[in-house]
Amino acid sequence: MLQTEDNIMDNNETAATKGVIFNIQTYSIHDGPGIRTTVFLKGCPLRCLWCQNPESQVLQPEIFFDSEKCTGCGKCVQACPNGAIEICEGRSSTNRELCQGTGKCTEVCPNEARNLIGRYVTAGEVFKEVAADSIFYQRSGGGVTLSGGEPLAQPQFAINLLKLCKDGGIHTAIDTCGYARWETVKQVLEHVDLVLYDFKHMDPVEHEKYTGVSNDLILDNVKKIHHDLSIPIIARIPIIPGYNDSVENIEATARFITTELGDAISVHLLPYHKLGESKYDSLEKVGNPVSITPSSEEHMAELKKIVESFGLVVHTGG
Ligand code: SF4
Ligand code: SF4
Repeated sequence: MLQTEDNIMDNNETAATKGVIFNIQTYSIHDGPGIRTTVFLKGCPLRCLWCQNPESQVLQPEIFFDSEKCTGCGKCVQACPNGAIEICEGRSSTNRELCQGTGKCTEVCPNEARNLIGRYVTAGEVFKEVAADSIFYQRSGGGVTLSGGEPLAQPQFAINLLKLCKDGGIHTAIDTCGYARWETVKQVLEHVDLVLYDFKHMDPVEHEKYTGVSNDLILDNVKKIHHDLSIPIIARIPIIPGYNDSVENIEATARFITTELGDAISVHLLPYHKLGESKYDSLEKVGNPVSITPSSEEHMAELKKIVESFGLVVHTGG
């Protein structure tokens, strides 16, 4: 089921002050200025066909399954409290509709074929980990970045964590697809120093075809962030060959940025890489992920020149 902001938020509200994260990456240098800690939140209202973090899309913790390690012993079948696992052709198979992400099966698997992705945490627990590297943030001009998934899909948890960071003197950034109600965006961004904003496609029909949602709300929100909140923005364009890397789309994106946000915005072109493709098997997703050949250096250089021709400063990479 495609998660709308409403049902993500309803789920989240029942979890009170806890959030669900799936990674904390220290010493990040691609998610904003300086040395940063990036906290990856689970849950996303989009379903980009090329998503390289499919384990981030569903809000709840999920089982990551390595079929090569499974011997079909059946211990996980007995341990699952929801009857979600069966043995098929000598290997276990999980019914993802029934799985509640309790992780009981991971505790009994003798071969580490099952791992739980995502854990419930309080903002205070995450802040403790994040604050341990404060000295690096101070020296490098870095800080903390919330990414995902989509951080705006867990607004209260994001606010709690960002507030703790701000009160602790730590620079805060958020990496967002921008698909959330404006009220939510505004409340979260009260505690944010820098926004990394994704532009996936400028055509609303193509955007919906590839991500599951139109870009209307996304483009409206970024204009409001710039005009009403005046928070610095870095525009991030994932370059996905065959989907959004046409000259026309890149020109349209650059034109929107200069016209609506001004030419002081820096633009990061993010080349596609194939690292995420094998994750779809581990999540036992129905249907294959799209298989995409990354752009050549020449094509990336051509797209960079196009964006620069609009007077924008462009970096290739994070
Ligand atoms: S917005 Fe990001 S996390 Fe969400 S589906 Fe798209 S690529 Fe994946
Ligand atoms: S417990 Fe591990 S090895 Fe045994 S069937 Fe389940 S996943 Fe396979």
